Amino acid sequence: MKQKGLLYSGKAKSVYRTDTKGQLIVEFRDDITAFDGGKKDQLRNKGSYNAEASAFIFQYLEKNGVKTHFVEMLDPRRMLVRELSMIPLEVIVRNVAAGSIVRNYPFKEGTKLNPPVIVIDYKDDSRHDPMLNDDLIVALKLATLKELAAIKKAALKINALLVKLMAAQGITLVDFKIEFGRAGKTICLGDEISMDSMRLWDKKTKESLDKDVYRFDKGDVMATYNRVVKRITKTAAQKKVPAGTGGKPKAKPMTAKKPKVAAKKPVKKSVAKKR
Ligand code: 5GP
Repeated sequence: MKQKGLLYSGKAKSVYRTDTKGQLIVEFRDDITAFDGGKKDQLRNKGSYNAEASAFIFQYLEKNGVKTHFVEMLDPRRMLVRELSMIPLEVIVRNVAAGSIVRNYPFKEGTKLNPPVIVIDYKDDSRHDPMLNDDLIVALKLATLKELAAIKKAALKINALLVKLMAAQGITLVDFKIEFGRAGKTICLGDEISMDSMRLWDKKTKESLDKDVYRFDKGDVMATYNRVVKRITKTAAQKKVPAGTGGKPKAKPMTAKKPKVAAKKPVKKSVAKKR
């Protein structure tokens, strides 16, 4: 498998073409950003922590019948994926009120949301990812109603599986953001699921175990990411969730070394979108 030219570079990941048709390489970089890029840093090992968490979660979801773009890990920060035609939607599933839903609506932080609340934003940094509804999504031709139904169904299934995975390790899955793409006519989970895109709270201490540690200067971000990866990738967690609907994990287990962390002090800047 040969890595070819850069296809796309985002805030924390770069996507490369390969010499194989229909397969791309996602490189998880050490960049970390928040507040629409208003705060940014490079934190050593961040890319490999997020790659490891993401790879583990994709394999877990696949085993439980969720279609994802994951193929295998090439090294601790490079993931081989199936090429998707990405749909520019940020699908956010919320189990507990926190973050923007508390800032924008009269929810008290920590309120349980049962059934979970799905919010879909338009992925467009220049517009600060405005919230959409079904009519807007169809009018903008971003997805059909049938695709939207498939996306919401998949999002709720992913949520149920992740809630169980996290709960087995004493972690509350507060909310998370996912992105989908098309593989032919099939809707497939793409992008990543990592500490950058989930909001996680320790069940006992209520301590943040995700990018909020960086956003709000709550402590040593990389030490937190390292601890979370160790917690969520414990195989014991997998035994406690429902049996898979088939399919072996497509990748070898990750054996990436986790070297010591040297986090640069983050620079504070004013914010637009509070993420
Ligand atoms: P909020 O709307 O409260 O800012 O975010 C809700 C959840 O979605 C959080 O877990 C947050 O990390 C995730 N999220 C929202 N927008 C983005 C984004 O642009 N990138 C990433 N990686 N995660 C996001």
